[in-house]
Amino acid sequence: MKITASENCGVKETLEQKQAELAWVLRARDGIAIEKSADQMDEIQYATERDLAIRNVDRESTLLRQVNAALRRIHNGTFGTCVDCEETISPKRLIAVPWATRCIKCQEATDREGQEPEDASETFSNAA
Ligand SMILES: [Zn+2]
Repeated sequence: MKITASENCGVKETLEQKQAELAWVLRARDGIAIEKSADQMDEIQYATERDLAIRNVDRESTLLRQVNAALRRIHNGTFGTCVDCEETISPKRLIAVPWATRCIKCQEATDREGQEPEDASETFSNAA
């Protein structure tokens, strides 16, 4: 079975849109993160917001990497193939999650094993 979801279902367009969107959001957040306030209270309030923003940026950078990788896979023709079992990922899944690298079965197994921790928030807590 040949998968042409990337051409037929606008997955590439979705990915490119997502890529542009995330790049924009991350650039905008960059601007927020270097903003400075003279007011001490604002500064404290701001630190909390920044902390939150950093966590979001982390999540968005991860997603952007996944989107970029998916676009690369479209280019080299491996898009739509599970990286674990090399089975075809269902087109339905690819439309919902175009940057998915695994079929639903392997993804669930990975999630259960917790091999890929998405949450790196500990890295950011009280580094100073
Ligand atoms: Zn699989």
